[in-house]
Amino acid sequence: MKKFIKTKENFICEHCKKYVEGTGYTNHCPLCLFSKHVDVNPGDRMSECHGMMEPVGAETEKGVDYVILKCQKCGHKKRNKLAENDEIDVIIKLAKDRNI
Ligand SMILES: [Zn+2]
Ligand SMILES: [Zn+2]
Repeated sequence: MKKFIKTKENFICEHCKKYVEGTGYTNHCPLCLFSKHVDVNPGDRMSECHGMMEPVGAETEKGVDYVILKCQKCGHKKRNKLAENDEIDVIIKLAKDRNI
């Protein structure tokens, strides 16, 4: 198993193929908001699923915006805090499409 020492990871988005420079903060693609199912608990990289996590919704709690992700492989759901460089249009469209 690959070990991550640093939390800053650059990666190629497996959904839209964008090269994403890690900020050490977010692990989802700022363009399409897809993430990868790698954590059991946030940041631990203990999941062996590695399915793509699709953004299925958005919500705001106490002034913090979250994107809700659902794993296409195992159905696991989690939410991610939105980062400042995230594509807000994607989120708006998402919210519209899902009627939320
Ligand atoms: Zn992407
Ligand atoms: Zn999964």
